[in-house]
Amino acid sequence: MSKNVLVTGGAGYIGSHTVLQLLLGGYRAVVVDNLDNSSDVAIERVEELAAELGGNLSFHQVDLRDRSALEKIFAQTKFDAVIHFAGLKAVGESVHQPLLYYDNNLIGTIVLLETMAAHGCKNLVFSSSATVYGWPKEVPCTEEFPLAAVNPYGRTKLFIEDICRDLCRSDSEWNIILLRYFNPVGAHPSGYIGEDPRGTPNNLMPFVQQVAIGRQPALKVFGNDYSTKDGTGVRDYIHVVDLADGHIAALRKLSDPNISCEVYNLGTGKGTSVLEMVAAFEKASGQKIPLIKVGRRPGDVEVVYASTKKAEHELNWKAKFGIEEMCRDQWNWASKNPYGYRSPNLNLN
Ligand code: NAD
Ligand code: UDP
Repeated sequence: MSKNVLVTGGAGYIGSHTVLQLLLGGYRAVVVDNLDNSSDVAIERVEELAAELGGNLSFHQVDLRDRSALEKIFAQTKFDAVIHFAGLKAVGESVHQPLLYYDNNLIGTIVLLETMAAHGCKNLVFSSSATVYGWPKEVPCTEEFPLAAVNPYGRTKLFIEDICRDLCRSDSEWNIILLRYFNPVGAHPSGYIGEDPRGTPNNLMPFVQQVAIGRQPALKVFGNDYSTKDGTGVRDYIHVVDLADGHIAALRKLSDPNISCEVYNLGTGKGTSVLEMVAAFEKASGQKIPLIKVGRRPGDVEVVYASTKKAEHELNWKAKFGIEEMCRDQWNWASKNPYGYRSPNLNLN
């Protein structure tokens, strides 16, 4: 019998790609999302992409903090595991509205964990972030590095990681995997699902994509005086489909009885500068990206990339795609959906 997985935030960027991989992998997926930063069109498209397996997907427009609505969903289905993506993620917004972030991310998670416990589902995969490494003293970052949060968003990740560690110490029935994502980019190769940020994008690739389709005039390059190969910031970009597959690997690992609370980096282990990423995107798209060099963005770190050894050995997972494929698929999605899910309807074939 196929396993039932509850996916919170499953209409979002990483969630939608993961739900598709779950369905294709033979799982049944129940998505809970308040659509605060996403569209139900993403859910419809995932269903279509999954073809005959699309019938194994159901969707509830529910806020995680709505305890009674969540309770009803758990009463209807016995879940084998939960993948918890739901949360707010804009660093700058979190600095200006910390209570919004603590309320949404922390209370949402606590209500979820309490409801899971009440229904005897104690298997969780949580979306953490490389942001918990702060400004790392060296690279690549291994999972044992000291943790530091430099803004309220990052603190919500750190607090939730600590809550999960405490929970596992208090009750050996819990199995929790914390996945620290590096920089997810790209889109499903179909060009049918991808990232669709509300308002002006904060992250590099969604911004580059909007410059390429003429929605923004130029990319501001934040800082050109870092001690890196070309002076711009270096990150570990990972194709969102590889990241999605990392969740399937984590779900498999949850059935290991000795897991308790484990943490894994999901990255490629390769560092790419802003200028290298822009050059790769220009090559993949044939579009020129005008650049304006400006000062460093406050709070930015210089170089971050992952040690991938632990995930390779213990999850048996490794990213397959490089920056060429990330840029190709990002452009395919952007050119087919210049206004994201608000673009005119696309036909799958
Ligand atoms: P996203 O905004 O596209 O997806 C998050 C989803 O959660 C959205 O669909 C939103 O509507 C939903 N949501 C938010 N609060 C909710 C609530 N209270 N109840 C129900 N639904 C709620 O973001 P994403 O890029 O797909 O990120 C998914 C997760 O991964 C987040 O937890 C994020 O912090 C984490 N993460 C993302 C990145 C990244 O660069 N994208 C990096 C590291 C970690
Ligand atoms: N960046 C940039 N211009 C932008 C957005 C980002 O130069 O408009 C740079 C940023 O300074 C960093 C890299 O691109 O060096 C990745 O930034 P992003 O916000 O995507 O990820 P994060 O900094 O959170 O890892």
